[in-house]
Amino acid sequence: MQRILNHINGQSVEPVSGEYLDNVEPATGKVYSQVADSDGRDVDAAVSAARAAFPAWSSMPAEDRCAVMMRLADLVEKNVDALARAESVDNGKPLSLARSLDIPRAAKNLRFFATAVLHARSETHPMEGVGFNYTLRQPRGVAGIISPWNLPLYLFTWKIAPALATGNTVVGKPSEVTPMTAYMLGELCVEAGVPPGVLNIVHGLGAQAGAALVTHPDVPTIAFTGGTATGARIASDAAPMFKKVGLELGGKNPNIIFADAALDAALEGSVRSSFANQGQVCLCGSRMFVERSIFDAFVGRFVERAKALKVGDPLDNDTDQGALVSKVQLDKVTQYVALAREEGGSILCGGDRPEGLSDRCKDGYFFSPTVVSQLGVGCRVNQEEIFGPVVTVTPFDHEDQVVEYANGVPYGLAASVWTGDVSRAHRVAERIQSGTVWVNCWMVRDLRVPFGGMKQSGVGREGGDEALRFYTEPKNVCIRVPGPSQS
Ligand code: NDP
Repeated sequence: MQRILNHINGQSVEPVSGEYLDNVEPATGKVYSQVADSDGRDVDAAVSAARAAFPAWSSMPAEDRCAVMMRLADLVEKNVDALARAESVDNGKPLSLARSLDIPRAAKNLRFFATAVLHARSETHPMEGVGFNYTLRQPRGVAGIISPWNLPLYLFTWKIAPALATGNTVVGKPSEVTPMTAYMLGELCVEAGVPPGVLNIVHGLGAQAGAALVTHPDVPTIAFTGGTATGARIASDAAPMFKKVGLELGGKNPNIIFADAALDAALEGSVRSSFANQGQVCLCGSRMFVERSIFDAFVGRFVERAKALKVGDPLDNDTDQGALVSKVQLDKVTQYVALAREEGGSILCGGDRPEGLSDRCKDGYFFSPTVVSQLGVGCRVNQEEIFGPVVTVTPFDHEDQVVEYANGVPYGLAASVWTGDVSRAHRVAERIQSGTVWVNCWMVRDLRVPFGGMKQSGVGREGGDEALRFYTEPKNVCIRVPGPSQS
């Protein structure tokens, strides 16, 4: 059985303990590989390698770092089929989605930040008759990067790319639930000529390998994407060491449909935003609010579309919905649907395992797209992140009310608003407490915009200049230039 090893100092290495964890294919429920169960000793080795590589990498001209990263991006693109298949098997997502979205975006992340540093500007502030102030932005050293399982290579590269481009070296800890594409990236690094120690990947459990990375004294930067509870833990572990911490956390995103919207487009967009990747995207709209005058008709069409989604083998070309990522996730979603029933919800479709799965998938972690109505906005199902193919539908009567509903959760990551009234679009976008508001679309994003969440959805922003700033330490230099009479 294939073993997923750590990538330390440019080499594939076994975990010091010699222990491995089973890696399960979610579509079949069967173990198909094993992943290194690393601990603090492996993290120490990776951090040492990253520290040793830092002086040369950080002092390399940006053009040369860029060239290395562009070669890596080219290799990701060249291997798109193999990477997409690996990600589909590892994660349960449809192969078509991994091929069209996840893997191309990983290459794009690398290219975007590799070239962004070539265009980075800095300012000088002349103080008349006194001198000049300017600000150097210098890489901090080793960046510890911890990423989740839902968009494995996409989110791993989203953090690695700006860290490397700005001259930091990296120790990454991907989710042990979906380690395969990060492992393959390590191999591609060797082919691309990434110098040993610049990017190190340590696999294993969050509470063990992840926690060792967070608390390591030689890792001054921690960039984390994952759940809010884990984010809170990481923030408190890192705080006494005054690390620079970026947190991209969970969401409970509203999807608002006004009666004046282009309803066909709103319907298409809502099906995608509710169920893409089996609802396991932090940006998915899990609370749908529909203006009362169109509620019954719109929700009726939405339910028909949800029922028509083909749930099945992620490797089949015509599959819309694959498997949930793990048994743990399947149990969590199942429990939330049971809670929805207890809280008085009416299940309009789904709510259980789909029928007609192939023999290969009979033990896989599948769940039907589920729509729930009749729940109060304050109930647990409408307040807590489920992270699965479950969406609630609630009518609203006017703009103030729906803004209150939208903002009435502890999260603030993303929102969608569907309306034909441009004034309303601006008004509502301004009032919604959320890091991103999409109007008449979903998940359309220029990589230059600051990305992240308000409230419990995160701390700090990534993307574009924000990411370049996050991974560097500003240092002000003031040069005294005395006037002629003072010299
Ligand atoms: P988790 O928080 O469970 O895990 C994220 C990563 O943290 C994993 O690699 C995990 O390892 C690791 N980890 C767990 N405990 C610790 C610890 N004590 N110290 C250090 N690392 C630790 O998230 P999921 O993997 O379940 O991902 C889903 C979550 O991610 C959802 O809440 C989703 O909303 C959020 N997310 C947010 C995004 C955003 O941009 N805001 C984007 C995508 C997802 P292990 O797997 O071993 O537990």
